[in-house]
Amino acid sequence: MKIAIVGSGYVGLVSGACLADFGHAVRCVDKDANKISALREGRIPIFEPGLDGLVASNMAAGRLSFDTDLSAAVAEAEVVFIAVGTPSRRGDGFADLTYVYAAARDIAHALRGHTVLVTKSTVPVGTGDEVERIVRELRPDADFQVVSNPEFLREGAAIDDFKRPDRIVVGSDDARAREVMNEVYRPLYLNSAPILHTSRRTAELTKYAANAFLATKITFINEMADLCEKVGANVQDVARGMGLDNRIGAKFLHAGPGYGGSCFPKDTLALIKTAQDFGAPSRIVETVAAVNDQRKRSMARRVIEALGGSVRGRTVALLGLTFKPNTDDMRDAPSLAIVTALQDGGANVRAFDPEGMGQAALVLNDVAYASDAYDCAAGADAVVLVTEWNTFRALDLERIGAAMTGRVFLDLRNVYKREIMEAKGFQYHDVGRGGDA
Ligand code: NAD
Repeated sequence: MKIAIVGSGYVGLVSGACLADFGHAVRCVDKDANKISALREGRIPIFEPGLDGLVASNMAAGRLSFDTDLSAAVAEAEVVFIAVGTPSRRGDGFADLTYVYAAARDIAHALRGHTVLVTKSTVPVGTGDEVERIVRELRPDADFQVVSNPEFLREGAAIDDFKRPDRIVVGSDDARAREVMNEVYRPLYLNSAPILHTSRRTAELTKYAANAFLATKITFINEMADLCEKVGANVQDVARGMGLDNRIGAKFLHAGPGYGGSCFPKDTLALIKTAQDFGAPSRIVETVAAVNDQRKRSMARRVIEALGGSVRGRTVALLGLTFKPNTDDMRDAPSLAIVTALQDGGANVRAFDPEGMGQAALVLNDVAYASDAYDCAAGADAVVLVTEWNTFRALDLERIGAAMTGRVFLDLRNVYKREIMEAKGFQYHDVGRGGDA
């Protein structure tokens, strides 16, 4: 099939490369000319494991190409995916749909022949109706349907998630559009990924409900971690004991510094706003968002307390800046709140992240970036493990300790064991392991 993808970021590029790998002819479009010229030269603008090889092999096979010009790509496509960003709107937290609607207008002008227009971006309920209205108004003659097909991939494991999804949600009441979508994803039947056909509004809401539920799980275990610290229980064991129950499941029960990233924070806020607008407020999600916001900043307070109540003039070294390992994405990462609060308290902040420092430098000021974990720890009063990159899982602790000025180690991901850290002379602080580990 001939497919155009509008927006070649994390989702658009991964979707485009994977769909090309299924055998479709895919043209990825982006209005960012630098991104497109980099991609044409085989340079991948984001860090996503395996993506460079997948893009290269499909370009070489002639199935994947890149363009800034939307018209040609859309004119020849049978299916057009919209994969542009939907960030939080300033002020009310609702999804900013400017990019989606702008893309819809551009696509409308370029449509030729029967085309299925697919919203892959995460968009609030009713956006598909609006996209349809926009296109219909501009092109009353056009033969098209608008389908919602939200994406559930995770950064860091995006290719595997796209190729082996738990499910594919397709929202459309139109039989012809459903057939086309079945054809797009037919190669996945081999992996027996179920396609869930729903109404468009149901598909749109399903994405938000799924993300809000996962954010709730994380926030729940974080609160249990706080309680564990007070009562002398171990949150990892609590989580294991909960997660072995099939009704609950073990995933997203890792206590830590709070959820971040490009999806959960903005999607919970957008759902809250939708729910309020429709007169069915979601008190649970409202609380989750508020608790999580608090938590990110409270991590800095832990550092301050561990350093005796003040960080003024002290040096704090952060290991990991991205919201999770295996991505360079810094959007809404907990480290942003932690660094800002530490700097507000007068700390000198050093940091090392295997992939995120380029993005971090765009949003954080006055951070001294290090060349590796040991360089980062040099002269530090406290080391804070913020993101559990593999490279931080087996640190040479003697070397870290020797590089530091102080001995405070805050392990916000519970990577290390208390008895080992204390034996090595660290003043060790974990999350929710109430004394034992
Ligand atoms: P991104 O910011 O990485 O990429 C968006 C791209 O769209 C940018 O490169 C931008 O230049 C381009 N763009 C914007 N307007 C355009 C236009 N009119 N024409 C052509 N290109 C245009 O965003 P992302 O992380 O890929 O997210 C895209 C959507 O997918 C969002 O709605 C997001 O919520 C959703 N999503 C993201 C993830 C994730 O893990 N990142 C997972 C699931 C769903």
